[in-house]
Amino acid sequence: MATLKDELIENLLKEEHVPQNKITVVGAGAVDMACAISIIMKDLADEIALVDVMEDKLKGEMMGLQHGRLFLRTPKIVSGKDYNSRLVIITAGARQQEGESRLNLVQPNVNIFKSIIPNIVKYSPNFKLLVVSNPVDILIYAAWKISGFLKNHVIGSGCNLDSAWFCYLLGERLGVHPLSCHGWILGENGDSSVPVWSGVNVAGVSLKSLHPELGTDADKEHWKAVHKQVVEVIKLKGCTSWAIGLSVADLAESIMKNLRRVHLISTMIKGLYGIKEDVFLSVPCILRENGISDVKVTLTPEEEAFLKKSADTFWGIQKELQGFF
Ligand code: NAD
Repeated sequence: MATLKDELIENLLKEEHVPQNKITVVGAGAVDMACAISIIMKDLADEIALVDVMEDKLKGEMMGLQHGRLFLRTPKIVSGKDYNSRLVIITAGARQQEGESRLNLVQPNVNIFKSIIPNIVKYSPNFKLLVVSNPVDILIYAAWKISGFLKNHVIGSGCNLDSAWFCYLLGERLGVHPLSCHGWILGENGDSSVPVWSGVNVAGVSLKSLHPELGTDADKEHWKAVHKQVVEVIKLKGCTSWAIGLSVADLAESIMKNLRRVHLISTMIKGLYGIKEDVFLSVPCILRENGISDVKVTLTPEEEAFLKKSADTFWGIQKELQGFF
């Protein structure tokens, strides 16, 4: 007997949804959900999969998004252990508490990565891996080691957000839209990140050439304070989530749409700026669907020395992890 659906629709087609642009986000916490909603609002995927070890929370978060499906253009939102995707984003892991160093999270989060990444490799051999969990520059190294992937297929969210915040603050002081203020924060995603004052420009006009003290202690205008102007979100709400979610969606857009935009992301930096070890730090990279290429920026000797110092610190920590992979 014909059903109501048969009565309504002529030439009913069999549903055969094989996602072509699927994104999986691992870790249904605050950052994960901010990434998921930012990706959904940009219509970047034909399927979003959420993965977490806390099954009730995972189901609740998935249903929370499905609840708003009418307002969204992502055809499918699922949860489970479904890693088979073009892009896998890992946000799973312990987060830092107020006043805690990100480096304290190394050991617990490396353990979590050891449980997650072999499954990703098994189900999703041709994907790009974007790591957000902290300390991101060390965990991207762990992800690279555990997965055995090519170095330019593993990416850390790195200083993409720090650089965006830097441009925003420069723009606020100059009265110029942040997209027209060009500046980069390099190196470690954390306390020793390096603002490249020598490269800051608006419309190609170098601010350093107009104001040589820019970024130095001798500067009477105190532009250096812009880099130190951190947001105290963790102190006020216990974590950061919205801005990193928006920044991750920005990176996902470059990968999924093959935009070849330049982003400050954490990449294997060995061979650049005098660094001889396998460390991942943020430098400007061209991000496209088949991986990343580094842009070789000219740094001052002081900027290069800062980068080298972060690399040495990380290599010291990574050496301790050697027997672990
Ligand atoms: P959260 O506690 O809200 O969420 C973490 C989630 O990870 C939890 O839901 C937990 O169940 C899940 N998880 C733990 N082990 C897992 C496993 N083996 N498999 C799947 N899921 C697992 O934390 P959050 O605030 O979302 O932060 C997540 C991470 O992102 C932290 O490491 C945090 O420091 C980092 N973070 C990075 C940046 C950055 O700029 N890179 C910014 C903010 C936060």
